[in-house]
Amino acid sequence: MAKLLVGNWKMNGLKAALYEAGLIAAAAKAAQSQSVQLAICPPATLLASLSEATIGTGLLTGAQDCHEKVSGAHTGDISATMVKDAGAHFVIVGHSERRADHHETSAVVCLKAQAALAAGLVPIVCVGETRAEREAGQAEAVVLAQVDGSVPETFPEGGLVIAYEPVWAIGTGLVPSTGDVLAMHGAIHQRLVARFGPLGASVPLLYGGSVNGTNAADLLHLDHVDGALVGGASLKADGFLKILHAIQE
Ligand code: PEP
Repeated sequence: MAKLLVGNWKMNGLKAALYEAGLIAAAAKAAQSQSVQLAICPPATLLASLSEATIGTGLLTGAQDCHEKVSGAHTGDISATMVKDAGAHFVIVGHSERRADHHETSAVVCLKAQAALAAGLVPIVCVGETRAEREAGQAEAVVLAQVDGSVPETFPEGGLVIAYEPVWAIGTGLVPSTGDVLAMHGAIHQRLVARFGPLGASVPLLYGGSVNGTNAADLLHLDHVDGALVGGASLKADGFLKILHAIQE
């Protein structure tokens, strides 16, 4: 399976940041030929312009969230149809910052994933335990419950991605041991196989949480780690491309 590197810019980036995305786009075709797909999820304000600017470059784009409805009286929200219309390929749903800041439950995340699929987008469904849950020995149970509740009943092959992002590793510089990542990705893989059979086995599993050019090779060469969701290190082309080069070595 090709590796997938997705940058999540979160609430960062003015129009000037398109320059960084341009540098990443310039490397995307060559990356594709070496079985690495690059994508950037900019803030919604930049999604249409970035998508247009990167047509034909091999760099895909995504949104960071979508509403579960197609349209209507939801001030400030953006539907999956709008995300698709802006030129995106992916949409992140259920990021831990959305689950925490906007009280999104797995049931809501599942509806968002369904809306994304209906709009022709590939949802990147995020799951991950808090530090307290890991310390209480509940990490696997919490994550598998999120997988069960957030992944819709049906999706096409290649049409859905899961990102395992321990909440305590996001933006902190802390990274789980490779053994813990291996165990969690194995557990998610088994859960998907049990529920969906071969379709479940084909779902790409990304790791996210303080990935950088130094730790990427160790993390991304583990079994059932098919790529990374990258926050801070994706904001500058240099940082993001260091991750690309690390996994190509
Ligand atoms: C993220 O928020 O998706 C993320 C992985 O952030 P960071 O790489 O900065 O930890």
